[in-house]
Amino acid sequence: MKLALIGFGQAGGKIVDEFLAYDSAIDTSFVEAAIAVNSATTDLQGLDHVPQKNRVLIGQARVKGHGVGADNELGAEVTEADIDEIQGAIDRIPVHEIDAFLIVAGMGGGTGSGGAPVLARHLNRIYTEPVYGLGVLPGTDEGGIYTLNAARSFKTFVHEVDNLLVFDNDAWRSAGESVGSGYDRINREIVERFGLLFAAGEVGHGDHVAESVVDSSEIINTLGNGNGNGNGNGVSTIGYASETVESESDGLLSSFRSETEFDEGTATNRMTSLVRKSTLGRLTLPADAASADRGLVVATGPPEHLNRKGVERGRQWLEDETGSMEIRGGDYPLPGEDEVGAIVLLSGVTDVPRIDQLQQVAIEAQETTENVRARAQDDFASLVDTGGELDALF
Ligand code: GDP
Repeated sequence: MKLALIGFGQAGGKIVDEFLAYDSAIDTSFVEAAIAVNSATTDLQGLDHVPQKNRVLIGQARVKGHGVGADNELGAEVTEADIDEIQGAIDRIPVHEIDAFLIVAGMGGGTGSGGAPVLARHLNRIYTEPVYGLGVLPGTDEGGIYTLNAARSFKTFVHEVDNLLVFDNDAWRSAGESVGSGYDRINREIVERFGLLFAAGEVGHGDHVAESVVDSSEIINTLGNGNGNGNGNGVSTIGYASETVESESDGLLSSFRSETEFDEGTATNRMTSLVRKSTLGRLTLPADAASADRGLVVATGPPEHLNRKGVERGRQWLEDETGSMEIRGGDYPLPGEDEVGAIVLLSGVTDVPRIDQLQQVAIEAQETTENVRARAQDDFASLVDTGGELDALF
């Protein structure tokens, strides 16, 4: 499916940059346009792939290009004030050619955390195309303010978008990795998973495609489509699992192999187990699959290893697992590849322990912040107060 990507804040910009690199490395292009928005000049300058003219600096009057720090209320304010600047960049996109907008942001910071929900509301008011969010949750070790920011942004963002796809940094960090190299690796993981899904929905526009190929409308129906004001179709998470197979291009070897190695049974069993692994393994946001409202199974890999029965069995298994009647399925053929994979998109998940924990910690952080502020005010008053024995100058 064709997307207009908008990266908000530092994490959002870097992830959109990575999406562009991925999009040009694969055969199917799903990025129609990419924009980066930030209140910090240096973050915009650090991007490699987003075209210069699509880099929008906001909040200059307030923060002079230095960013809003971790103040997401300020992030929301400057976005509201400079929404015309962002709209100016969007006006250059051929919106009639896109299937959806995708706003990408780290939810724990300031600019993206505060600005992404404001932009989502704005786009939903103006356009009929669905507006999706890709929100990145902070690691639990980042501290109270990031957790509080993320919980408040999540609560706001989820109501302004037609679906909020979530990636949890905490579930994907590895011990002993530096923050910088950690993010580079994590950003590739993000882009490979979500990129594969969006690319899958783009194949259907070719000439000779099998009818089992997944189409952008199936992704949109699974995520939820726009009704003009963001209809809170909830939260989505993605799983992916793959297995190496020998492709037909492995020539010599395959000529010795018997026909039965490509038989229906093997392909079907492989796909069914990949769908299970994908659903029950590490999701972008860990969640109980049984709580999903809707789902989509996409089988990827060399066409000779994909069969209709495999996807159908996988789809049926997910239907049983979720108890949902709205599980869709399809193929994304990748000729010449040597891996068969299953992407599972779970939409409308409600059993998400990480979100409960995030909210709990955020409520505590909010109470602590309020107490500290109140105490500081009292302490200051008693520092300055002289019991009426001293007159101020004016
Ligand atoms: P902003 O520029 O004010 O929007 O804030 P940032 O995007 O710098 O940071 C917000 C949050 O995003 C941080 O708390 C991190 O959890 C996360 N983050 C920052 N950079 C990256 C990145 O490159 N990749 C990922 N996955 N997360 C990031």
